Amino acid sequence: MRGIQRNFARLLSEVRALVPLAPAPGLRILAFHAIGSSLPFPHYGISMTPARFEQAMSSLVPAQNAGLTDAVSRVDSQAALLALTFDDGYRDVLETAVPILRAHGLAASVFITAAFAAGGAPLYLDRQAIVELSREPRIEIGSHGATHRRLTECSDGDLRNELRDSRHQLEDWIGRPVRTLAYPHGAVDRRVRDAAEEVGYESACTSRFGVNRGGTDPLLLRRNEIVSADSLRVIRQKAEGFWDWKGKVRS
Ligand SMILES: [Zn+2]
Repeated sequence: MRGIQRNFARLLSEVRALVPLAPAPGLRILAFHAIGSSLPFPHYGISMTPARFEQAMSSLVPAQNAGLTDAVSRVDSQAALLALTFDDGYRDVLETAVPILRAHGLAASVFITAAFAAGGAPLYLDRQAIVELSREPRIEIGSHGATHRRLTECSDGDLRNELRDSRHQLEDWIGRPVRTLAYPHGAVDRRVRDAAEEVGYESACTSRFGVNRGGTDPLLLRRNEIVSADSLRVIRQKAEGFWDWKGKVRS
């Protein structure tokens, strides 16, 4: 299936390359995790090499980059917008990704799981590092739940606590409002979405591929996930709209 998806995206981008067009309108959100850390658990490749990340950031210029909250406020325009996000709060975001983002003048949102931050594991940003990260002018701090549980499986009480406690904890640490959320594991349904709105989040990211346009529910934003196996070409395709169709099919 993956091979077919890659070939389809390649075909689309080759056809598109024949006709020089402006980037397709809409807000595309890329989802990264770790940059450079070797992760202690088996995974499908969510830690990208710093070299690949640097190459990708150098080439993602065609769309207008904006922080998530800013981008969502402009989603009704005909602009092609690109937001960058990082899930889980790995320490390498501060140490490796931020210097690269800064060098290219790029904004990003970092979604922190409060329990990972408080847990003391060196792999994750701790409180002090999160405060440092929040002082970066183009970095926005968002919540990724209190404990990274699947919110769709939580009782109503636990759901509210996961959403509210993580927000309050982060706001207490960084001294400014936390307006945005990424649903852990991408697990969201109508009840979870409504609870996020009730708790006060203004936007929230799913893990479903696709483009966000005027009329998109800001609490059900689509995102294109980047994995470590993605070539530079595939990363660019995901940023430019050639993988938008993937959110419409089951994989
Ligand atoms: Zn996560």
